[in-house]
Amino acid sequence: MSNDSSNNLARLYNELLILLKQEDEIRKETERRLAKAKTSVDPRQEFNRWLQTNAGQTWKQKQFRYQDSKCAACGNSLRFADAVVHHVRPLKDFGAAANTPENFKLLHPSCNLKIGTKIVDFS
Ligand SMILES: [Zn+2]
Repeated sequence: MSNDSSNNLARLYNELLILLKQEDEIRKETERRLAKAKTSVDPRQEFNRWLQTNAGQTWKQKQFRYQDSKCAACGNSLRFADAVVHHVRPLKDFGAAANTPENFKLLHPSCNLKIGTKIVDFS
């Protein structure tokens, strides 16, 4: 009887170990899928992808002309190649809703860094 009990306990213990291992594998797989899903809905990545498209580059060229080749923040002249797209309403707080061209301004990289996620009125 006591031998049966310890056999049962040993079997139960092994089954629990197997379940724990399976649970760990499922958790890792879930995390992997979540990370993948996050990259496809991450507004920052969505924006970066858009900017590389023809539509994104066309917008940047038009905006550059519209801003008269000047930084929207400091007003000094800006080289097209240096111009970075600033989100007036920050992605951090507005998510995908911030990804509309009306929300974008071209800035010097240093001006963009200085402003960060503060909301500035450029008008
Ligand atoms: Zn500037």
